Amino acid sequence: MRKKTIRDIDVAGRRVFVRVDFNVPLDRGRITDDRRIVAALPTLTYLLDRGAALILASHLGRPKGPDPALRMDPIAARLGELLGRPVRKLPDCIGPEVAAVVHAMRPGDVVLLENVRFHPEEEANDPAFARALAALADVYVNDAFGTAHRAHASTAGIAAFLPAVAGLLMERELEVLGKVLDRPTPPLVVILGGKKVGDKIGVIRNLLRSAQTMLIGGGMCYTFLRAAGGRIGSSLCEEDKLGLARDLMDEARRRGAEVLLPVDILAVQRVVADAPVQTVDARAIPDGWIGVDIGPRTVAAFGTPVAGAGTVVWNGPMGVFEIPPFAGGTRAIARAVAESRAESVVGGGDTAAAVEQFGYAEKITHISTGGGASLEFMEGKTLPGVAVLQDV
Ligand code: ADP
Ligand code: MG
Repeated sequence: MRKKTIRDIDVAGRRVFVRVDFNVPLDRGRITDDRRIVAALPTLTYLLDRGAALILASHLGRPKGPDPALRMDPIAARLGELLGRPVRKLPDCIGPEVAAVVHAMRPGDVVLLENVRFHPEEEANDPAFARALAALADVYVNDAFGTAHRAHASTAGIAAFLPAVAGLLMERELEVLGKVLDRPTPPLVVILGGKKVGDKIGVIRNLLRSAQTMLIGGGMCYTFLRAAGGRIGSSLCEEDKLGLARDLMDEARRRGAEVLLPVDILAVQRVVADAPVQTVDARAIPDGWIGVDIGPRTVAAFGTPVAGAGTVVWNGPMGVFEIPPFAGGTRAIARAVAESRAESVVGGGDTAAAVEQFGYAEKITHISTGGGASLEFMEGKTLPGVAVLQDV
């Protein structure tokens, strides 16, 4: 279902409430990565160029009530620099003081409300709170794809009281992820890794409908290797998911999709940077050894389908990439995806971080800004923050 966006409405002279995702990492009050703020700029400048006044709202962290460490002030400052115009941080997100400032706003003005999660009513999706937020503006824009899987007051409830449309970032996420799900350019190659099988079952199931090849690495591959009869030493294994792993491999076979598991593994006895490593047969990991990355033969084996893919969807690192000696597999796969002519989509917070860190972000068609939200979208779920937007 296509959703209306800011391109479909007239915003001149109107107050526009934009739910953004400014949940950036902070280190003692300093922003350590401003990409989420940068990602919102196209929507904000589009609206400002057309004569809107902007009331911006986001959550930051997981406060339980007001928390001075999670105030939005550093974000307002950084946004002001990026926009090249003042961004006034308001002391709250509702109440008479906020209303007074907002009602005096002129086209081109920008205010940032205080952290919406300082009010428990936000996560409770309290209708009175949602109505109070809505009372500040004439139009609601949701550009926070990363929070769209949550039905909160500022992501969903508010849309009951205002015309609601998507921002440009949200639009692009829906377009690219939607295409990959509904009409991927074949062949579709899905690369899955990361920590837990349990987190990704829904994605595996849903993408198996259209995938030609599924490549499984990362912490989750050991459960599959074990389910396929391999010995995995002391590697991560979800004992309670062995049956499920077998079912998923059977389901893939029935659908004619190929599932490739690692053939070799980098193993250590302790997961520390200076541990001695050995490359071992993926189905004969010695007792006491722990798989921390895919090996070079696996990188080559995974590289072939990636090179021939029409579409690549990747979620989950191939190894413990945070520790440089165990990052080689993830780096090599990032490179293979970047070099492939396929339309490539990366989802998942850690996978996105890995691709950025290794310098391949520019060569990926789309890196989703939503961790949990992109996973739920790829599971085929309807995201509440999307469902409330007006249909075209
Ligand atoms: P994403 O955030 O991209 O969805 P996940 O959160 O599912 O990815 O998984 C990322 C985590 O998986 C990383 O912290 C990484 O260290 C971990 N991981 C990858 N391979 C292994 C492994 N072999 N053993 C333990 N943890 C692993
Ligand atoms: Mg993660």
